[in-house]
Amino acid sequence: MEYKYHSIVLEHTDVGETDRLYALYTKEAGRIMLAANGVRKPQAKLAGNLESITLVEVFAAKNRGRGRITGAIAADNFSGLKENLPAIQKVFATLKIFSRLVTQEEQDAGIFALLLDYLKAMDTSGEQEEKIEILTAGFIFKLLSGLGYGLEMKKCVSCGAMLVPSRNFFSAELGGTLCETCASRENRRVRIADETVKFIRIFFENKMENLGKLRTEESNLRNLKLVAEETVKWVAG
Ligand SMILES: [Zn+2]
Repeated sequence: MEYKYHSIVLEHTDVGETDRLYALYTKEAGRIMLAANGVRKPQAKLAGNLESITLVEVFAAKNRGRGRITGAIAADNFSGLKENLPAIQKVFATLKIFSRLVTQEEQDAGIFALLLDYLKAMDTSGEQEEKIEILTAGFIFKLLSGLGYGLEMKKCVSCGAMLVPSRNFFSAELGGTLCETCASRENRRVRIADETVKFIRIFFENKMENLGKLRTEESNLRNLKLVAEETVKWVAG
């Protein structure tokens, strides 16, 4: 059988003398692994189209066992991103988180579109750390929500009271914000600043492409990172 996949190349591992195993996130089948035979031979043209972080149409043959790549046409290699050292380093680190959260071969066009939107946003982000961090935090929170781990950011997850700006907390285990009173009874919780609550709400309610316009303080970026890490740890173990 012949298959065609709209794919984003996540990573690859060398196998044997000249082969490689590619991890792809595809529109048609979610995360898949495909082998490419002879791809490391000097005259092989396939490897150039299969660099990590490339949007590519992949053709594959599959009979039994693992599919094999027979051809690839690169549609976007995100050259702006690859020339931007702080942005590309951030994307590689983010794809590690993505791979921890997205492990199944399961079709999800929404996640595919989100990943593509993130790469496009990072392709034109510039080198400013603030923008890179906001886009990345936005992507991770939107990814968690897209995977079914939407976080409650308006009420206390324990008593149900509407959250008011004050000394609030966050519990990944309970899936959202906690008021100060309820937080005192929880062991696993972290502080969450009002600004951070506001930003996570904005992430959930806005498209990736609009997040690049946001501006914020270093302390909020650190708090966003902490809340994201707590949640990823809880979800991915
Ligand atoms: Zn409460």
